[in-house]
Amino acid sequence: MNAYVKRVIDEFREKHRDEKEFIQAVEEVLSSVSPLIDAHPEYEKAAILERMVEPERLFSFRVCWEDDEGKVHTNTGWRCQFNGALGPYKGGIRFQKDVNESIIKFLAFEQTFKNGLTGLPIGGGKGGSDFDPIGRSDSEIMRFCQSYMTALYRYIGPDVDVPAGDMGVGAREVGYMFGEYRRLKGTFENGTFTGKGRSYGGSLIRPEATGYGAMYYLNEVLKHENDTIAGKRIGISGYGNVAWGILKKAAEVGAKVVYMSGAEGYIKDEEGICTKEKIDFVEQMKYKHLDLRDYVREFGCEFVEGKKYWGAKDIDICMPAAVQNDVDLESARKIADAGIKYYIEVANMPTTADALKYLRQQKNIIVAPSKAVNAGGVAVSALEMSQNSQRLSWSAEEVDSKLKEIMANIYHLCEEAAEHYGLGYDLVAGANIAGFEKVAEAMLAQGIF
Ligand code: GLU
Repeated sequence: MNAYVKRVIDEFREKHRDEKEFIQAVEEVLSSVSPLIDAHPEYEKAAILERMVEPERLFSFRVCWEDDEGKVHTNTGWRCQFNGALGPYKGGIRFQKDVNESIIKFLAFEQTFKNGLTGLPIGGGKGGSDFDPIGRSDSEIMRFCQSYMTALYRYIGPDVDVPAGDMGVGAREVGYMFGEYRRLKGTFENGTFTGKGRSYGGSLIRPEATGYGAMYYLNEVLKHENDTIAGKRIGISGYGNVAWGILKKAAEVGAKVVYMSGAEGYIKDEEGICTKEKIDFVEQMKYKHLDLRDYVREFGCEFVEGKKYWGAKDIDICMPAAVQNDVDLESARKIADAGIKYYIEVANMPTTADALKYLRQQKNIIVAPSKAVNAGGVAVSALEMSQNSQRLSWSAEEVDSKLKEIMANIYHLCEEAAEHYGLGYDLVAGANIAGFEKVAEAMLAQGIF
């Protein structure tokens, strides 16, 4: 490894010793870009690595709200404006009880390179709160979103920082936050948020974009292997918005998602989660507070409590689409032993560092990295920003064809960057190098700060 890279990683580990997710994300990117740093001695002179791992800005704020019984709760809210070299900070907001500063920073750091890969003018940011939305009423969600926005509204804007959804934040939450923002600012700046409802400037295909984009990226991987999607059997984890998009596209192209897992266990639906009825059901699960047991009650398939399906031999493609570090080393070994050929990361950093290292060493598995695979969501967000600036709305076909093109382009960037640096067919390293280089070049051009 390049000595400069090693020094920065060592210093970073020491400084951030309690932030394990942030360390994991930084180490993965920095160790991958070693050949790029070798080729660009000017990066060290400009301290690019040190600057790349330091967020430009991080807000932390109190979010107070009253539940339906009148009890007052206090949560912490964050917004991290990680890197603005390519455009306004851009990234979602996550509401989930385990969210902490390390998670926000790792997500914002990853977002920076993901957004760079899209080729669109967006910098990297992320926000969130340790608020647990599970089981909360609609009014409680609204009050929480309003309180969160009251604290944040002065620091965002269409040319400053543009939040969107992430886990626990969908169109409903974005609507409440945008409403509060509009009320406080007194202007209709709908370009300040993406993932909005259609009636006030949301883009067609945005709800499907992350899942569709993942399937388009997968398609490029399959093409590279002279393989096709039709008839493939897929296992996914998670059943949120991203999983829903995958289900929709998989059904359309004749692939079958047969396994789906959540915290409560997994289902095996031999007929595939393919019909409109099943896919619509999955879409509604979050809002109706349902889980996989309800799916089984409705559609009558197999349910295995408290377990993951990693290790199942009767699938071709594995797509973790739940949360970070969902696949550990033991799970990775099972996946490899089962002979799965395609390991397509969809959630942000779904694989632990040791598991990812192990999978990348396996000759018979292709690993596609999340920061490239899931970039379709934020890419369509950037297209939503363009539509809002133009005060126009594009057709679903137009947005979808742009998304397809962007995903194919991202795939080729990953493939070519790895090839260029003599790393062979290594999409993980390729994504890190291509994303990093894009941001680093913009930072260099803009001077030292
Ligand atoms: N939260 C999504 C992500 O991880 C989307 C962000 C956005 O649309 O700004 O990329």
